[in-house]
Parts: sequence; structure tokens; C-alpha cells
Amino acid sequence: MCAQQPDRGGYDDDTLAALITSSRQVVADTALALRRMAEGTYGTCERCSMGIPVERLEILPQARFCVSCQRRGVRRSCDELTACMEDETRYLPS
Ligand SMILES: [Zn+2]
Repeated sequence: MCAQQPDRGGYDDDTLAALITSSRQVVADTALALRRMAEGTYGTCERCSMGIPVERLEILPQARFCVSCQRRGVRRSCDELTACMEDETRYLPS
């Protein structure tokens, strides 16, 4: 007899943790994108203020940086991401 296990969709713990982390980042970046839409700054790079190409936004609507700035390694730590999510969720539509 096997003990009853919660359904994990066939993923192990490490894979699930990675999926949760990347999903949280998408949610946080999407909330930031909604704020930028409200502020009228959506579609401009947060680092160099250049316009982000529409083709990039179609693929990644929550993009915060142009391709060249993203490649330079603008990344947030998990702590910043968590703080950001707590701060930004109020911009999500209710
Ligand atoms: Zn840029």
C-alpha cells in the first residue's frame, strides 16, 4: 500500500520550487507593467529609457528593460522580488 501523496503533477520538490519562483517573478513584473501603464511609462526601458520594441512586448508583455539592458544582467534578488510583490499587488485589478 502506498501512502496518499498530494498531487504534484509529477514534479519533484526542486522543480516545483523553481516553477513557483519563476511564476512569482512573472506576477510581480506584470503588476509593475500595469503600474507603468497607469503612469504612462509602459513600453520604455527602466534603465536607459529607450522604447522597448513592440515585438518584444508581444512576446514578453511584462518586459521592464530593452534587450540590451536585459542582457547586461539587470536582475532582482528574491528578497527584492518578494518586497516588490507585496508593494505591487495593490496595482493588480480586483
Ligand atoms: Zn534599456
